[in-house]
Amino acid sequence: MRPLVATIDLSAIRYNYALAKACAPQRQTFAVVKANAYGHGAREVVSALPEADGFVVACLEEAGEVRGLHGKARLLLLQGCFEAAEYQSAARLALDVVVQSAEQAEALLGAALGQPLNVWLKLDSGMHRLGFSAAELRAWHARLSSAEQVAELNLLSHFACADLPEHPLNAAQLAVYRSLDDLPFANRSLANSAAILTRPEAHLDWLRPGIMLYGASPFADRSAAELGLKPVMTLSGALIAVREVPAGDSVGYGASWVAERPTRIGTISCGYADGYPRSAPAGTPVLVCGQRVPLVGRVSMDLLTVDLSTLPEARVGSPVELWGAQLPVDEVAAACGTIGYELLSKVTARVPRRHRY
Ligand SMILES: *Cc1c(COP(=O)(O)O)cnc(C)c1O
Repeated sequence: MRPLVATIDLSAIRYNYALAKACAPQRQTFAVVKANAYGHGAREVVSALPEADGFVVACLEEAGEVRGLHGKARLLLLQGCFEAAEYQSAARLALDVVVQSAEQAEALLGAALGQPLNVWLKLDSGMHRLGFSAAELRAWHARLSSAEQVAELNLLSHFACADLPEHPLNAAQLAVYRSLDDLPFANRSLANSAAILTRPEAHLDWLRPGIMLYGASPFADRSAAELGLKPVMTLSGALIAVREVPAGDSVGYGASWVAERPTRIGTISCGYADGYPRSAPAGTPVLVCGQRVPLVGRVSMDLLTVDLSTLPEARVGSPVELWGAQLPVDEVAAACGTIGYELLSKVTARVPRRHRY
């Protein structure tokens, strides 16, 4: 087998879930498992969290999979339903549905449902992607609170800058949220991972941790280790070739990297078709034999190359960690100009996942 595998430590997910709960005792928690549990395997992650109060998915396809594994937990559909018929599926799956637009609200009122749905009205408190203004939400609250299609009426909003705790938009969004304090809702939910970790006033009834469950940091300037989180995914492989490249020769496509001195180059069976970003610049850290070496040359579809000059003992078969337990995914992401979320959720289906219990 090609030496590349994503090992997923499910006990670390359980640990991180417990840490999220400990940040906000007495609150209920939706474990966010959208996007195949940020690339970790929704099936295994959901099965590893039987104690979760609920789960969050982005779309109906994801909801079907999770409901099959967990018959009872509350299961929140973040983007809501896109056609009238989808409300019937949502009712059959006993989902909690977000209603984020007038079109969705009208379709809900037109649906004939076997059982009423728990509805989460989405407030656009300042992110301006989805949701109702405070005034619109007030009007929809009045129309939906007596609707036969609605069981619980709940309130949800989302922070744009929770990862920047000092950003003024956080307070502005909270103020918009508070302007609805007089409306009765069964439950309220605001906090993603960053707000769970820094903003107790936003904890409310239901937490929505995503990235922290997967052992990565939502903050650019605070590591997952500092936050007490355990790494979950380790993407590991091995050197599949080693060669000496003379000074002046280049490595990889476009000859973009040129050896300034004779250089020992190691080749690793991981590329952008596995989810390793092609944009990774020379110098991005890779762990070989437990030591950091710099990526050199362009990342190609199936392979990438590193400079082994500081590691004379490295040879074909030597172990490689692209990110994980010893090399934080956030550090690799920062070197590539992105965030851990993107690296984790983009690990492709070609990479076998090995789940550890
Ligand atoms: C993805 C998502 C979350 C989880 O965010 P993290 O930063 O990963 O904790 C919470 N709420 C909504 C609406 C989301 O889309």
